[in-house]
Amino acid sequence: MNYPLTLSAILRRMKQAVSTRKVFTQTNQGKIHCYSYGDCYRRVCQLAHALNRLNLKPGDRVGTLAWNTFQHFELYFAVPCWGGVLHTLNLRLSSEQLIYMIDEAQDQVIFVDETLLPLLEKIAPKLSSVKSYVLMGGDRSQKTTLSPVFYYEDLLEAGFDCFDWPELHEEMAAGLCYTSGTTGHPKGVLYSHRSQYLHAMAVCLVDTLGLSARDTVMPVVPMFHANAWGLPYAAVLVGAQLAFPGPFLKAIDLASFLQEVSVTVAAGVPTLWLGLFQELKTGQYKTDHLQRLVVGGAAMPRSLIESFEKELGISIIHAWGMTELSPLGTTTAGLRFDSSDSQIYDQKAKQGLPAPGLEVRILGDLPRDLNEELPWDGKTPGKLQVRGPWVVSSYFQASHPALLTQDGWFDTGDISTIDPQGCIHLVDRSKDLIKSGGEWISSMALENALMAHPEVMEAVVVAMPDQKWGERPLAWVVLKNKSVSTLPVKTLKDKLQIELSKTFAKFWIPEKIDFVQEIPKTSIGKFDKKKIREQVLKEQTGLN
Ligand code: ADP
Repeated sequence: MNYPLTLSAILRRMKQAVSTRKVFTQTNQGKIHCYSYGDCYRRVCQLAHALNRLNLKPGDRVGTLAWNTFQHFELYFAVPCWGGVLHTLNLRLSSEQLIYMIDEAQDQVIFVDETLLPLLEKIAPKLSSVKSYVLMGGDRSQKTTLSPVFYYEDLLEAGFDCFDWPELHEEMAAGLCYTSGTTGHPKGVLYSHRSQYLHAMAVCLVDTLGLSARDTVMPVVPMFHANAWGLPYAAVLVGAQLAFPGPFLKAIDLASFLQEVSVTVAAGVPTLWLGLFQELKTGQYKTDHLQRLVVGGAAMPRSLIESFEKELGISIIHAWGMTELSPLGTTTAGLRFDSSDSQIYDQKAKQGLPAPGLEVRILGDLPRDLNEELPWDGKTPGKLQVRGPWVVSSYFQASHPALLTQDGWFDTGDISTIDPQGCIHLVDRSKDLIKSGGEWISSMALENALMAHPEVMEAVVVAMPDQKWGERPLAWVVLKNKSVSTLPVKTLKDKLQIELSKTFAKFWIPEKIDFVQEIPKTSIGKFDKKKIREQVLKEQTGLN
């Protein structure tokens, strides 16, 4: 049957099959807002009437600058199912980057959370495409310099709670997300209804993230980053409940919220779970319901996976993906282990098997190997390429260079091995690899090993220019007990180097290990290697 794969079909499920399931939000006022998918559907209809009144045309981009909340969730459905394109803006990027993205996307209206008003007010005079603003949150008395401005709840009150939804084509654009700019300028990725639908189905499969009606899912990964990993659409598809933490992302707030609404699965980047682990370890929370954490966006340290599973009984699904992949690429959920397998945690620290629907391959890096596929032997690293129905084919603006290889694969910019099971193991981002004396060093492998040391909380490794070797690795380490180590710094540094030399060749060991109070993070909580490299360079050239 030729049935259009659109988000409207998932919206119909919200109204019919799963209408009694609930959505929880930690509001700006610190209370828990709770309603059913059925209530949500009625508000989505009211919102669609509001989009009509805002004089939008089908295909127009509608910007959102918001935390993970029920109102943002309503926009996730109303905008694309009405025929518009939802453009989720990363609230942690700089003013210049926000202006660049809004301008490139030609956003017509921006929905903004009341707590983020100062951010938008500052850049609004420079936004030529935006015709109006809508203020979300609970406070209708809030004053703003944005103009013309409407209050979200007033707009909804004026609308009916049913809507005559248009028939959409599955190839129509539904959402626009920019990469978080870890390695360069953010680039826009346009998702179609079809890609989102198929991605949502893939997310629910048992051997990917295994979402079902038995779950309450807490996406801590922001709704402004790669569609919160597609979880809002996947949850509605299967009737999983949703728990949105709003702006409260500290470990202590997440721990209380997940306890209060009995979260079964939560998703976010590794740095988040580091803090949560310390919090849950205090034993103050009842978390029997919390079965699994989905971790992606950066490598989850092996030691932390083991600690969560052995000490707290919470299983870790390690996932790899990118904005350009909607974002799910691989997960470890489908790996099978022999119970006697002593290497279980080595395996779980890898990035896992491709989600059903995606194909992967690795290619050689040297010009003569360019079109040569490398073996899946778990040893040979190569450029990781993917293809599949939710992989991007070009960036939003034609000004960006062509994306796909001549034979139709997307080059991820990651370097990986693939083992005979099909499990990928990322060596590094190609831009983060360190080339020392003509040989490659993986910053990711060194970070993982450093974070396994009992005194180390976080560690990052970057390339430092070196006259003799070209580049040398430099490590920044944050200790668990930031101010006091049990050992003098020099002794601890020696110990870390000795520890590393048990696993790595001599030339891999960083001569320079600095102990710092904090590691700079990107807008979505990854180690900001671009910034660290800049800082190191400044220090080296004496500019600091
Ligand atoms: P940005 O490119 O701005 O960082 P993305 O979130 O799209 O935004 O980044 C995707 C990249 O993040 C991947 O190409 C990979 O380098 C890295 N990444 C994602 N998941 C993992 C993981 N589980 N392990 C290691 N690296 C990861």
